[in-house]
Amino acid sequence: MSDVLPYGRQSVNDDDIKAVSDVLRSDFLTTGPAVSQFEAALGRQSGAAHAVAVNSGTAALHAAYFAVGVRPKDNVLTTPLTFAATANAALYLGATVTFADISPDTGTIDPASVAKAMTPGTRLVVAVDYAGHPADYGALRAAVAPDVGIVSDAAHSLGASWDGRMVGTLADATTLSFHPVKLITTGEGGAVLTDDADVASRARTFRTHGIVRSDAPDGVEEPWYYEMEELGLNYRLTDIQAALGSSQLRRAAEFVARRRAIADVYHRAFAGLDAIRLPTTRPGVASAWHLYVIRVRAGAEMRRRLFVRLRELGLGVQVHYIPVYWHPYYRRLGYRPGLCPNAEEFYSQAISLPMFPGMTDTDVESVVERVQTACASVL
Ligand SMILES: *Cc1c(COP(=O)(O)O)cnc(C)c1O
Repeated sequence: MSDVLPYGRQSVNDDDIKAVSDVLRSDFLTTGPAVSQFEAALGRQSGAAHAVAVNSGTAALHAAYFAVGVRPKDNVLTTPLTFAATANAALYLGATVTFADISPDTGTIDPASVAKAMTPGTRLVVAVDYAGHPADYGALRAAVAPDVGIVSDAAHSLGASWDGRMVGTLADATTLSFHPVKLITTGEGGAVLTDDADVASRARTFRTHGIVRSDAPDGVEEPWYYEMEELGLNYRLTDIQAALGSSQLRRAAEFVARRRAIADVYHRAFAGLDAIRLPTTRPGVASAWHLYVIRVRAGAEMRRRLFVRLRELGLGVQVHYIPVYWHPYYRRLGYRPGLCPNAEEFYSQAISLPMFPGMTDTDVESVVERVQTACASVL
């Protein structure tokens, strides 16, 4: 590996490699027994009754929004402090997107802002468990009418919990991503978790072109009979990927424990740095620590300088995220800076430090030293 410590990185061991090569020698390469096993394991891990594996986190969002019933011209309310896919998936379905602001402590969507932004057309609220900290689903449920769905974009938070309730059971549907920087990986991949059998069945249909295999109607003698009932896509995960996913899932508790230990070291080491604000955790929350995001109190220009200095010192720091509606595509749709002041301020101060389970204690110490050096010289 190069000397640069990235902000995130997969951890693949010999068991993972064996799981994949076993599938390559088997009869099924795509959606076969390994996918069913992976789905069952995801359900057991999260406590969700159903899991539907798909081929990206983006596909999971698209399938989940479809499955909970988003239709053209519906309104979807979400946070701007996320990867663009969270909002894009609503646009794929012909829905409109409204952005609600975040709570400045956690970076997750603010239930009070959601309550204010609700319109009669709002069909769905999508929260993002930013950096691994679950959004406040209890307050969100209380803030919206009972017929409004709540989806959790849990790309950052597999393994997190709130008052002992696992991510995967906190919303009507929960989506995961298995991109290599996320909590477990399948290369590319994702899943929809839900307790609702109808939502699961609609997501499953959407994953494979909207095709429903069904018995031929009475009087039709066509053993090859099948029907396409919805306009779905090919969002299927391969067995090769699912085998990697099952193997990774067996290591997920160990991954999250390591992330929590690294977060503890950072907390202690940076507690005395008044120029930066450290991430906070609400009472009852066990974060999955996908990201460790520090905030430069002095704002955008000092954040830029500290970021550049950290890169010069060999840390592959990143910024999560440019507010979604700042992107040119969203500006062309009419969104303007200023919409969500808390999210914009959060963005202007944020830097994600290296955080992944394969970091050695020496790696962690070297991040601490380099952050202290950079803060001393820049801030
Ligand atoms: C990574 C990510 C996605 C998209 O997942 P892919 O697997 O890359 O398609 C969606 N939302 C959030 C918050 C993410 O971090």
